[in-house]
Amino acid sequence: MAVETRVKDNRKDGPGGSGGQESTGGLWDSVKKAAFVIGSGILFLAAFGNSLTWHLQRFWGASGDFWQDLWTKLYVAFGGHNAALFYFGTMFVPTLTFWGLNALLLVVDTTGKPSFIARYRIQLDKNNPVDPVKLRQALRCVTVNQLFISGPIVVAVYHLMSLRGDPCGPELPTFHRALAELAFFSLVEEIMFYYSHRLFHHPHLYKRFHKQHHEWTAPIGVVATYAHPLEHVLSNLLPVVIGPVILGSHVSTTCMWYCVALISTTISHCGYHLPFLPSPEFHDFHHLRFNQCYGVFGVLDRLHGTDDKFRQSKQYERHVLLTSLTPLNQSIPDTPKKAL
Ligand SMILES: [Zn+2]
Ligand SMILES: [Zn+2]
Repeated sequence: MAVETRVKDNRKDGPGGSGGQESTGGLWDSVKKAAFVIGSGILFLAAFGNSLTWHLQRFWGASGDFWQDLWTKLYVAFGGHNAALFYFGTMFVPTLTFWGLNALLLVVDTTGKPSFIARYRIQLDKNNPVDPVKLRQALRCVTVNQLFISGPIVVAVYHLMSLRGDPCGPELPTFHRALAELAFFSLVEEIMFYYSHRLFHHPHLYKRFHKQHHEWTAPIGVVATYAHPLEHVLSNLLPVVIGPVILGSHVSTTCMWYCVALISTTISHCGYHLPFLPSPEFHDFHHLRFNQCYGVFGVLDRLHGTDDKFRQSKQYERHVLLTSLTPLNQSIPDTPKKAL
């Protein structure tokens, strides 16, 4: 879900300001505009979503039983301990996914090897190798956030979801439903992350709550959740957990969504623009320039003009799905070799 959309447009009404802070003047007008565009998007999905998912579900049909059988085995194995099943799906699996992916990335960050991955680094002169003191501090904070904030919030989410029904039912949701729910979660995340993140850049809040995350002007994967506790709750967790709570989703969909969100934010921060993976240029640029590219998908940044400098940058030219093995820092270098 990390693929930022790339639409040609030339709005240049972004806020001024620098150093990671901005004024909120005119924000309400922008919010109204955003509500209109998002509302139109929902209408469009409602009109054409059915035919799209009908084709996908035909493709899925053959393997549908496979997933249901797998789920039934897991469901039986937990013997009715639904809380345990919920925590397994929403804590254990996503945490394992996060650390599994980040362990691989940390090898490259700390050793610069293998060089066939390191050569895809976005900010070539940074983290080569990463500062061990800074890294230890980040790892400590990420672990504390995970254990003492994410953990209790997932427990609260379970109790909240149990009020309206069992989130760990014996039957998997249909493919159609899971897909629609994931689309809804993405929409909620984009809106909540964009506005809460932009609020944290307000002069009154930035220094105290958000500056910590921006200590990394060249981020690495694991600093995705390196943040002040309040920012971790409002910007990292709430935008992701609220969608499944609203819809009363099945734990399998919630598990998939948490994993997608964690993989997506790790890639956005990883600092390597690797082939066949979503482009991390957008959020990397946010860390580099502070007052650009606040959102996840880039939709609201386009709408509010908070990507105007990004769209005039080399990073924007590189903000594509890389489909060759040549690193973009070579095919689109910072300073052209020839002026002609
Ligand atoms: Zn970040
Ligand atoms: Zn920020």
